[in-house]
Amino acid sequence: MRLTGLHLLLTYRCTYECDHCFVFSSPGSEATMTLELIKKAIREAKELGTVEDIYFEGGEPFLYYPVLLAGVKYAKELGFETGIVTNGYFATSIEDAVEWLQPLKEAGLDSLSVSDDDFHGSLDNPDSHPARTQAAAVQLGIDVGAICIEPPKEINDKIKGEPIIGGGVRFRGRAIEKLSDDTLPRKKWDTFTECPDEDFESVGRLHLDPYGYLWSCQGLVFGNLNKSSLKEIIENYSLSQHPVFQPLSYGGPAELVRKYDLDLRGDYLDACHLCYLARKELRKKEGFKDFLAPGQVYGEV
Ligand code: SF4
Repeated sequence: MRLTGLHLLLTYRCTYECDHCFVFSSPGSEATMTLELIKKAIREAKELGTVEDIYFEGGEPFLYYPVLLAGVKYAKELGFETGIVTNGYFATSIEDAVEWLQPLKEAGLDSLSVSDDDFHGSLDNPDSHPARTQAAAVQLGIDVGAICIEPPKEINDKIKGEPIIGGGVRFRGRAIEKLSDDTLPRKKWDTFTECPDEDFESVGRLHLDPYGYLWSCQGLVFGNLNKSSLKEIIENYSLSQHPVFQPLSYGGPAELVRKYDLDLRGDYLDACHLCYLARKELRKKEGFKDFLAPGQVYGEV
C-alpha cells in the first residue's frame, strides 16, 4: 500500500445539514480535531515518505479558522501540497472572502475546492457564497475547483480511489434517509458484487476523523491514530485479516450479506446503499465496532 494523500476531517460541525452528507454533519455536530492530532498526523505522514498532499475538509473546516490556518501552515512547512474543501459560507462579499483567504494564501495554501450544487448554492449564481469564494480565490491566485454532487437519478461511475467531486449522490449516510425515494430504480442485492470506489488492496488516500479514526471510505476503519502511529497502521494492515475489507474486496456488499448472513436480501439503489445498511447491521454484532466507527457516521449521535 502506497499512501499519497491524507484528508483531515477537521470537524463534523457544518453550517448546513445536507441531505446527501456521508457523515451526518450539521450545525449541532460537535467533534472537532485538536491541533495536536492535526500536527501528529502531518508529522507522521512526513515520516512515511510517500504522502504528497494534505487536504482539510469536514463538516465545514472554516468554522475552526485559526486551527485550519495553523494546520495549513504546518503542512506547508513540512513540504506538502495543501488543499481545503469548503462550502464558502463565510463569503458575505468577494472583498470579505479575500480577507478570509489571504492569510491561508500566505501560509501556502495551494488549492480550494468549493461545493457547487443545488445543496449548497450554485456557482452559476454570481451572488452565491460559493461563487464569491471562487472569485476571491481567483483574485489571490489560489487554484480553485468545484465539487458538484447532482441530485439522485441513476447509479454513477467514477475511478476507484479518487475523491468524489462530481456525479450523482451515493446512497450512504443521511442520503439513505433523505433521498432514497420509491421512484428511483433499484437492483437485487446479489448484483452488487463490487465496491464502486475503493481499491482495498492498494489504498492511495485515507481520511482521518476528529476521533483519530483512519478510514478509506467514510466509517470503514484502518486504525486509530490515537492508539498507533500512521506507519504502524499501514505496516500492520492485512486485507485478508480485516473482517469488513476482506469480504467487500472479494465480492462487494453482496458478500458482506452472504458472509455474515444479514437479513438484507432485498432491492437497493446502489452498491453503497446495501453496503451502508450491511455495515449498520454489523455494528450491532460483537467485534465490529472498532472496524466500523464512529457512531456519528452511522447516524447514532
Ligand atoms: S459505501 Fe461501501 S460500496 Fe460504497 S464506496 Fe464505500 S465501501 Fe464501497
